[in-house]
Amino acid sequence: MQLTFLGTGGAQQVPVFGCGCLACQRARHDNRYARGPCSALLQAGEEKILIDAGQCHLEQRFAPGELSRIVLTHYHMDHVQGLFPLRWGMGEPIPVFGPPDSQGCDDLFKHPGILDFQAPFTPFEPVQWPGMTVTPVPLQHSKITFGYVFRKNGDPGNTLAWLCDTCGLPPETLAFLQNAPLGHLVLDCSHPPGGTPPRNHNDITQALAIHHALQPQHTWLSHISHGLDNWLQENRLPASVSPAWDGMTLAL
Ligand SMILES: [Zn+2]
Ligand SMILES: [Zn+2]
Ligand SMILES: [Zn+2]
Repeated sequence: MQLTFLGTGGAQQVPVFGCGCLACQRARHDNRYARGPCSALLQAGEEKILIDAGQCHLEQRFAPGELSRIVLTHYHMDHVQGLFPLRWGMGEPIPVFGPPDSQGCDDLFKHPGILDFQAPFTPFEPVQWPGMTVTPVPLQHSKITFGYVFRKNGDPGNTLAWLCDTCGLPPETLAFLQNAPLGHLVLDCSHPPGGTPPRNHNDITQALAIHHALQPQHTWLSHISHGLDNWLQENRLPASVSPAWDGMTLAL
């Protein structure tokens, strides 16, 4: 399997419109430091799965028939906004999977176009897709949100957990994830430490606590804000924790 980070920022993105902080200046001068909405492409053989659809211009990025399916963590705009133009495309329907959120986002369910919304996932109930098993796990966020554990068939150690957006983890999700060895963990880490206690996203203190509780081989921080980017320039992370960057590819 191969994972390519399409975006590693939050709804605000980096650089932030109108912001002159060091992280935003750096991202403005050097595109490698820019962060788009949190999203990735997971490839396993012929299977191409888009994890979240907050990237704009999906209809230009992907050819018709290229995406096998889209899996959504939740229906906040920075995770689904790319679907709005994509749905009015033509050709084969694209299966879309997600949590049981009856509201969805705006009129996506009422006017799905070529998006083929599937029956919502059930927490902890594994689903078989070509070459892999996918298990949805509930997260803690301001809208109903699922993380996903992708396990390559025939290779139980080769596991990817995608946990965005979340603030801490529900106890049953923590227990589930502690039960099996984790390869790579992609984790919401929006904020630097300090300030008001975060309510909807991890700060670095919470993200490191989750990393220590789950002991993956490597944790990749995502949904990163300009505030965290500034903090990261002055502070060190443990060797097995790194910020993800847009465009980065992991071989799983
Ligand atoms: Zn988000
Ligand atoms: Zn800034
Ligand atoms: Zn969200």
